[in-house]
Amino acid sequence: MSFPVAAPAALPTVVVRPGEADRILSGHPWVYNGSILRLTQPAADGDLVQVKDHRQRLLGVGFYNSKSKINVRLLDTDRIEVSATFFETRIREAIAIRKRHLPKATSFRVVNAESDFLSGLIVDKYEDVLVVQTSSLGMDMRKAMITQALKKIFSPRAILERNEMSSRKFEGLPEIQGVLAGENVSDLTVNMNGLKIAVDLAGGHKTGYYLDQQVNYQSVASLAQGANVLDCFSFLGGFGLHAARAGAFRVLGLDQSEDAVKAATKNAVVNKVSDRCAFEAANVFDWFKQQTTVGPHEKIVPRYDMIILDPPSFTRNRASVPDALRGYKEIHLRALKLLKRGGTLATFCCSHHVSATMFQEVILAAAFDAHRVVRRVATYTQSPDHPVLPSIPETEYLKGFAFEVAR
Ligand code: SAH
Repeated sequence: MSFPVAAPAALPTVVVRPGEADRILSGHPWVYNGSILRLTQPAADGDLVQVKDHRQRLLGVGFYNSKSKINVRLLDTDRIEVSATFFETRIREAIAIRKRHLPKATSFRVVNAESDFLSGLIVDKYEDVLVVQTSSLGMDMRKAMITQALKKIFSPRAILERNEMSSRKFEGLPEIQGVLAGENVSDLTVNMNGLKIAVDLAGGHKTGYYLDQQVNYQSVASLAQGANVLDCFSFLGGFGLHAARAGAFRVLGLDQSEDAVKAATKNAVVNKVSDRCAFEAANVFDWFKQQTTVGPHEKIVPRYDMIILDPPSFTRNRASVPDALRGYKEIHLRALKLLKRGGTLATFCCSHHVSATMFQEVILAAAFDAHRVVRRVATYTQSPDHPVLPSIPETEYLKGFAFEVAR
């Protein structure tokens, strides 16, 4: 005769207000402070709790944190036990999605938090090194279990922690960086669609690199045959190098970071495209202004066949959206002035707060001011290792378009 191992009913219960259950049932894993009716017994921050609706129906279990605005981050609709095995199973499910949609990739996002029902956890794979970010207290407290599961699945050379996100303060967590397992790796070369990109895992952006454009690099490059290309906000050269390999006539990449420009320049040499691919340190806004400022009787000479715009997010929150839109309009206006007729504008927006519709409206306003008419030839989204769950709007952030200058 067997007995139940744990007594899950003993979990503290968070009861949500009437009307709050539907969002959770549709798959959204966050329970906000304001949605909670009561707690049946005290719960420690970081503990597993169960969440019920006001009629006592179980909605799921998740990590509790009274310090965060998000009081509970749900993990499952059942009363699961959180162990290294739980993490192993869930991470293997996430890997299966990547294998299906990015079968050739060797560097990719293994776990994308809410997209993979692991709110608060990001794991990026850079060849044989894994980089982890834990943005919730519940996940942070379980780093050892997560590390154990990752070691079992991947046997990686190293597992690094890049937890310097300022958002961690909302969970009462410090900003830290370190090694969770293996050796301390900082420099590493990743394979992006067959190109070699040297990344700095200790100092680079996010967890070292932007993996979310892996598919778009190829799609955009397929339009670059014979083109004179301008790659704005080029970072390590992702778009420019792909364009050069795909047969661009010439590529100029611009980034304000001297380090990024140096690294991109080296990447061009390593990938044998430095004869037609150069990177320069410049503030894109200033550079555009300089290139598009002409005297009273002069005309701007459009000279690019393709301009790529992949700026950082100009928004931190909803309040900064109007300023961000002004920034987007400015760079699109100038880019459209520098594009030849028939040329391609490949443009991206990684701000969750700016929708694809808003983004396109800004581009159209810029086209109007630049006296150009554009033809939309492609729409882009984040690579499939950053899955979008429409019931969790926060999982969707990257949108992009390719427009041809029709007139
Ligand atoms: N396209 C890149 C990612 C760009 S990330 C890729 O595919 O990997 C944004 C980049 O914009 C960063 O490298 C940052 O240094 C740069 N940047 C931010 N503001 C800038 C500005 N005003 N002018 C030029 N570069 C800028």
